[in-house]
Amino acid sequence: MLTGLIHCAECGGAMTIRTGKGGRYPYYACSMKARQGPTACEGMAVPMDKLDDLVASHLEDQLLQPERLETVLAAALDRREEHSERRREHIAELNKRSAGSELRLKRLYDASEAGMADLDDPALKDRIDGLKAIRDQAKADAADAVQIRHDRPRAYPAGRRRLPPRPSARARPTCGGRRR
Ligand SMILES: [Zn+2]
Repeated sequence: MLTGLIHCAECGGAMTIRTGKGGRYPYYACSMKARQGPTACEGMAVPMDKLDDLVASHLEDQLLQPERLETVLAAALDRREEHSERRREHIAELNKRSAGSELRLKRLYDASEAGMADLDDPALKDRIDGLKAIRDQAKADAADAVQIRHDRPRAYPAGRRRLPPRPSARARPTCGGRRR
């Protein structure tokens, strides 16, 4: 379970799994020693079961404390709220851009109706096409962004930050079922 994560304390080389006689006793051993012999490293070897259990119970103790979990989850929720806030701002910005283009288009049409602008003028046509493109793109982007927001799993409603009480000792998984 720890291959690729642990390194030899002597030389810093990766620890790889080796097995003792008959393959029944897997252990982590310094790969430097295995490859280059004892001149490269005196070598480290730890029974796999022992180290896995040690690391697993340490993680369980450290990480699965309710206070610790609460801190970790609260930080994650904060990040998500921040993200959600930025997205809201982004959508508002897109809507503003779309409305702005719409308004300019309307002014151009009004000017044309009042005889002050010629819609057949190629330069004006370009301008209108450009405004329409900006408006449509902003509309589509805003719709996408709204869609993404709604697809996301709901955050806790404000105030529901407390974790449920820690399960009783009986309800917790026993060590026997741990994956190696
Ligand atoms: Zn080593």
